[in-house]
Amino acid sequence: MWQVVGHEEAVALLTKSLMKDMLSHAYLFVGPPQVGKMTLALNLAQSVNCLEPSTSRPCGECNQCTRIAAGQHSDVQVIDLLANASGSGTRKEIGIDQVREVQHFANLKPYEGKCRVFIFQEASSLSPEASNALLKLLEEPPESELFILLTSSGESIFPTILSRCQLIDLNPIALGTIAEQLQQALDTPPQEAIYLARLSQGRIGWALRAARDPQLMEDYTAELGRLASLLDNTLEERFAYAEEMAALYTSDRERTLDHLKLAVSWWRDLLVLKNGNGELVSNVPAMEALDSHARGISTQQVIEVIKRLQDTMSCLDGNINPRLALEVLMLSLPHGKSSPG
Ligand SMILES: [Zn+2]
Repeated sequence: MWQVVGHEEAVALLTKSLMKDMLSHAYLFVGPPQVGKMTLALNLAQSVNCLEPSTSRPCGECNQCTRIAAGQHSDVQVIDLLANASGSGTRKEIGIDQVREVQHFANLKPYEGKCRVFIFQEASSLSPEASNALLKLLEEPPESELFILLTSSGESIFPTILSRCQLIDLNPIALGTIAEQLQQALDTPPQEAIYLARLSQGRIGWALRAARDPQLMEDYTAELGRLASLLDNTLEERFAYAEEMAALYTSDRERTLDHLKLAVSWWRDLLVLKNGNGELVSNVPAMEALDSHARGISTQQVIEVIKRLQDTMSCLDGNINPRLALEVLMLSLPHGKSSPG
């Protein structure tokens, strides 16, 4: 049984191809972070290796399925931004060394299963050199190989790679589906399940983690508080924040980008609220702060900040000194009503 929550169309399509033995050699799953791309990829890896007949794959119970779920199957490899096997530190891009390793394994017969599966966790982080090497593999895919590329933005993938993959869009999951899943899988009380589902903005992975781990919720509300207080901070305090984020960027790039994405969603909420659509605010715990800032900041200013945040994220992608980029961002933030100057 497919374990992925929602994404019925994608599952139906893959099941059909599986039963007709007409799976593509390469797939690109496009969808926002934590929407279920990796779960679907692992389910597909199970399906092509499962010992049950194609009508009941993935069974989730045979030794192939369980080894894949446990991350122990030697024919299923995840290529990601972790710097080393112990999972400490992150790299900025998926490099040529990683794709060379894939090339090496792709030439070998599957070791314990029927099909080798290579899952590229953030395919938009492939370096140009790595993209070219991967393209060669996709152009002449070896027998019994499956490539699954995951990304939150299809635009950042080489067009030549795109043209070799079957594209599957994974959209945010409906609030009701997420709330139901939280109640069924984790016994989350109904009220809390609905609350978390709303905060998750369709990202089932986030909702499940938040329901299991109260710390995640605490960090999230603390970060929302920090974002709001920046508006009342002095320039010195803002620069201290920029310095802290720049240091985080060196050790954990993805988390820094997550902070910036949260900032974008906070400012979008401010815009939504200014337009009188309070029920559409996604960062519910920030409601009070949003409400108090909505009056003091103009719509034009909000739009400008969102644009600046997006510029900062592309600057960080483009090798600009992170501290400088973040300081420029801090300078561009308007001041709240209660702050000096
Ligand atoms: Zn199975």
